[in-house]
Amino acid sequence: MHIKQDLQLDFKDVLIEPKRSSLSSRSAVSLIKTYNFAHGRYSWTGVPIIAANMDTVGTMSMARALAEHQCMTAIHKHYTIEQLVEFFGKKTSKHDQDLLSQNKHAMQHSFYSMGIVQKDVEKFEKVLSQVGYWREDVPEHENYGIKMVCVDVANGYMQSFVDFCTEFRKKHPKIILMAGNVVTGNIVEELIFSGVDILKVGIGPGSACTTRKMAGVGRPQLSAIIDTTDAAHGLDGPTGANGLICSDGGCTVPADVAKAFGANADFVMLGGMLAGHTESEMEPFEKDGKKFLKFYGMSSSEAMQKYSGGVAEYRASEGKVVELPYRGDVNSTILEILGGVRSTCTYVGASNLKELPKRTTFYRTTIQTNDVYGNSIK
Ligand code: 5GP
Repeated sequence: MHIKQDLQLDFKDVLIEPKRSSLSSRSAVSLIKTYNFAHGRYSWTGVPIIAANMDTVGTMSMARALAEHQCMTAIHKHYTIEQLVEFFGKKTSKHDQDLLSQNKHAMQHSFYSMGIVQKDVEKFEKVLSQVGYWREDVPEHENYGIKMVCVDVANGYMQSFVDFCTEFRKKHPKIILMAGNVVTGNIVEELIFSGVDILKVGIGPGSACTTRKMAGVGRPQLSAIIDTTDAAHGLDGPTGANGLICSDGGCTVPADVAKAFGANADFVMLGGMLAGHTESEMEPFEKDGKKFLKFYGMSSSEAMQKYSGGVAEYRASEGKVVELPYRGDVNSTILEILGGVRSTCTYVGASNLKELPKRTTFYRTTIQTNDVYGNSIK
């Protein structure tokens, strides 16, 4: 048995020090960034915030709505092959031209998500055989295909996961591969050597996650980001670009997103903050005259019942099921999140997202907010 004594920090343990700034308005801040990848041959430009691949969040409707802000979506893996082909494929059908053109815009910001079992591989190959890889050799309005893949397992430390990533990279050299989840620098290095471009970082911080209660495993998210980005940014892949990190889970307010970027995360993935909206593609239900939407972890009993016919005897559910007040369209929520991050940038004098970590100094805190009138941000 071993105890690591270094202090491990979460978003709630820090505040950001203000710095001299020549920026007079949030409108002077750009959140758009361009990335090249350690292995994948494509580049990507946009706002590096990703809707999580949960079936209540990572929907095609979410992808269309977030793409308007150049944000990304990891499309959840429970869509049918036909739906995925329609989303990622060439648009030949005449029906609903509007939706088709929005899809075209959305797919360049969307990840195809999958697990590592045989049926995930077979499904991916079927979709890929019909839509092909993302094509950049055609005029922009004709682009289509799969550009980015998110390989998601609860425990990214399994040898079978590392082997899967190695094989995937051999078969699909061009694709931008995001994979996880992990929380330590050593495994980040191994996975980047195995072909991963973006490591998804976070074990247990999620709003609908019970892993820390069920298994007692995890790492405070801010320290996980600091350690893993240090490892990833120091490693170049065959393309000459370095490994990247996506902080996944634990953001509850816009400030947490800014803290994740301030700690050096390249991408930030959000579940709960984007849940409860029309884009969840579920019907709200009424209770005492108020509308609610269900939100649940992908390892919750609800999700396992829906997709696997129940919780297998050998495992326990590691996800919560919650009822969220219905919040309408996601547009105002994403504007609020982007506004929060822009505000952080103006406080520290960063005119863009790239400058934010360079200008971030964290204060360790014991108390963050004055909650005398509650702790809601509204
Ligand atoms: P949030 O932004 O809601 O705090 O966290 C979202 C992340 O929680 C997801 O991207 C995913 O990594 C994680 N997550 C989603 N469902 C579950 C679950 O059922 N169990 C666990 N352990 N994590 C989950």
